[in-house]
Amino acid sequence: MQKEFLEQCLAEGMSLEAIGKQAGKHESTVSYWLKKHGLEASKTGVHAAKGAPEKVDLERLLAERLSLREIADRLDRSLATIRHWMRSYELESERSARLRESKDACRTRSKTASLRCPKHGPGKFVARADGRFRCAQCRMDAVAKRRRSLKRILVEEAGGGCVLCGYTRCDRALEFHHLDPKAKQFQITSHTRSLARLRAEASKCVLLCSNCHAEVEAGITTVPLNLSPDTCPG
Ligand SMILES: [Zn+2]
Ligand SMILES: [Zn+2]
Repeated sequence: MQKEFLEQCLAEGMSLEAIGKQAGKHESTVSYWLKKHGLEASKTGVHAAKGAPEKVDLERLLAERLSLREIADRLDRSLATIRHWMRSYELESERSARLRESKDACRTRSKTASLRCPKHGPGKFVARADGRFRCAQCRMDAVAKRRRSLKRILVEEAGGGCVLCGYTRCDRALEFHHLDPKAKQFQITSHTRSLARLRAEASKCVLLCSNCHAEVEAGITTVPLNLSPDTCPG
């Protein structure tokens, strides 16, 4: 049995029995040839038989920001069917709207644009060096993430905890205290620089927890000289 013939029958929603009747073959023969051609009887047949999805259903699911594949699953239709009806209803998925708007923004060569982020929704995007746009919130998140991972490395290298009280629980409550304020070039945690530069700066510091740091800055506590990094053997 020809593949094209079987495909056509399936697309029309015909059952195995109906196909068999039309071809003058037994149902099991039809089933054999479907398998041979890698076609799926029940599913494709059911999809085709269900007919067009309602426009309102598609609009509702699109509003839920589902992907076309998810919509196909929800409506129990094939992806091709959903694509086809999206085109004929002139509907646009969030993803394709995003891509189209992004392309338009690139063409205008502006520095910022109002686009949609799959994670943060509609918002401000900023142009990157290559001219493509990136969600400003995503970029801030990435910077914060990099900052946290750099700090983790520096904290680990500085002994992992407060040199005075041994506190280790939370990196955010650990600070780099410059032993010689005159040697300070920048505040370590407020900058995103290369690890090498941060390391160089951290080498002039001891690690203190926020409480001990406040006490040191207030003059209540002093950092013993033998804890300074220069005199520290390791
Ligand atoms: Zn984002
Ligand atoms: Zn402490």
